[in-house]
Amino acid sequence: MSDSPHTAAAPEHAGTAAAAKNEAPGKDFVRAMIEQDLASGRKNGVVHTRFPPEPNGYLHLGHAKSICLNFGVALEYKGLCNLRFDDTNPLKESQEYVDAIRKDVRWLGFDWGEREYYASDYFEQLYAFAEDLIRMGKAYVDSLSAEEIRAYRGSLTEPGKESPYRNRSIEENLELFRRMRAGDFADGEHVLRAKIDMASPNIIMRDPTLYRIRRSHHQRTGDAWCIYPLYDFTHCISDSLERISYSLCSLEFVNNRELYDWVLDTLGIFRSEQTEFARLNITRTILSKRKLIQLVTEGYVRGWDDPRMPTLSGLRRRGVPPEALREFCSRIGVSRADNIVEYSLLEFCIRERLNATAPRAMAVLRPLKLIIENYPEGQVEWFDLPLTPDEPEKGVRRIPFAREIWIEQDDFRQDAPKKYFRLAPGKEVRLRCAYYVTCTGLQKDAGGNITAVICRYDPESRGGGSPDGRKVKGTLHWVSASHARQIEVRLYDHLFTQDDPEDQPEGKSFLDAINPDSLTVLSALADPSVCELPPGQCLQFERLGYFCTDIEHRPEKPVFNRTVTLKDSWAKLEQKQ
Ligand code: ATP
Ligand code: MG
Repeated sequence: MSDSPHTAAAPEHAGTAAAAKNEAPGKDFVRAMIEQDLASGRKNGVVHTRFPPEPNGYLHLGHAKSICLNFGVALEYKGLCNLRFDDTNPLKESQEYVDAIRKDVRWLGFDWGEREYYASDYFEQLYAFAEDLIRMGKAYVDSLSAEEIRAYRGSLTEPGKESPYRNRSIEENLELFRRMRAGDFADGEHVLRAKIDMASPNIIMRDPTLYRIRRSHHQRTGDAWCIYPLYDFTHCISDSLERISYSLCSLEFVNNRELYDWVLDTLGIFRSEQTEFARLNITRTILSKRKLIQLVTEGYVRGWDDPRMPTLSGLRRRGVPPEALREFCSRIGVSRADNIVEYSLLEFCIRERLNATAPRAMAVLRPLKLIIENYPEGQVEWFDLPLTPDEPEKGVRRIPFAREIWIEQDDFRQDAPKKYFRLAPGKEVRLRCAYYVTCTGLQKDAGGNITAVICRYDPESRGGGSPDGRKVKGTLHWVSASHARQIEVRLYDHLFTQDDPEDQPEGKSFLDAINPDSLTVLSALADPSVCELPPGQCLQFERLGYFCTDIEHRPEKPVFNRTVTLKDSWAKLEQKQ
């Protein structure tokens, strides 16, 4: 880490499982298990994982954790990772989501090569396996309604009740199932269920539904099917067909593991193995596709890629580099214990990355005119602002300076307290890389509002250096008034006002925790050179934070998103110079 004033210290709440347990990154329980298997030869040295998104929404930070884990272990142990679309519910899925997921995984930095799979490609095989189960007497067509099936299932304390259709003959089951496929029945008229144990302590094992009738157009198979397999049947068989050795999923599937194993063992096919890890939760953030969809469709945000969204497309648009997300995922680690990660850890990773990569520039968000009364009218000087202060070889940005400049309203106070190191009547400050100036007066309008600050500059301080060892504590950023270009700046705050937006009293929802001030749009002023940047470029506006040109940014209509603030650097910068 550099000792630049812009480098934030590690946040107090690096509060993650890995940090708390002092685990070295890369040695979580999943990796420990894999290394043990590699040593013992239990899985014949095969490390084959998959990332299995359902294309029913955009990927979010939680998926990033899963992607980094699945692709990460494949890379580290010279294995393979498949990208598999778990596309068995056409009602909620679409090609738009498939395309977005492919783009986001690639952007995050992972490559699945030729290994792009779709559960829908296995529909024929899945159907054949279902018939196999029927022939083994391990599955039956049930004609109870959905409510009846639910009622018959029992509860945690009571065993379930067997369906009156449970003991249909194999022939009858085969015929009914084939007719289900052929479209002879209405949606919901029958389902195919596994025949396991209605008294199992694990409710999932009480004759789970494997297939349902649902006339719905599928984005890949069209209208070829009117029956669709359910997750618990599809997922394990897809893993098995792809010979996945490690099927890593989140903890809510713990109870499904028994069924996962039952299906593969009963069919006698390749035994993939499921291992669960804790989902990612982050303060002030929702990570549930259903709720994220609601934010989009009900207009709480401007779209899936709104920079306030925890989606990968939103974070990308906001200017978050993929390296920062990978670093975040590595720092949070992988464990079996549920926890909540502080949002500030993500911000820390973003700052750390951008501090090293974002070129510096200057802009003024809330402008106040500063007039240098002893500076020649019409004169323009060009000063060099280092693009990266720690690496002078990276070059400079040439900035015009003139008699009238804009400074930040916040950087001037008429009645300044003692410790105020910025500009005030009689006080001297440095204008970043330009000159020392001393405030000598004010201009006010008829209403008594300050319209300009009058200063005198010291020509001996050219470039911002001290002329005679004289020290000033404050350094202000600025923009030449006649050169400044108007830019739109979008500042973001958390989308939610509560650490856990889902923790709500009766009758309230996460929507009640929405922050009404999560977006502030300003008309600001900037050095003209930054307007020429292409969309998606990050930069640091000195003292204001890291920004990124929006995807809608054009030289004639410049738009900047603030990715993250600089945080503690303000005070440090004032002290250093
Ligand atoms: P959501 O609850 O947002 O709808 P999901 O699990 O239904 O998520 P999938 O598309 O099925 O979404 O997820 C693909 C993979 O990403 C799964 O293996 C899932 O376990 C993992 N995943 C989803 N959310 C998280 C999370 N918050 N933390 C870690 N992994 C996650
Ligand atoms: Mg899911």
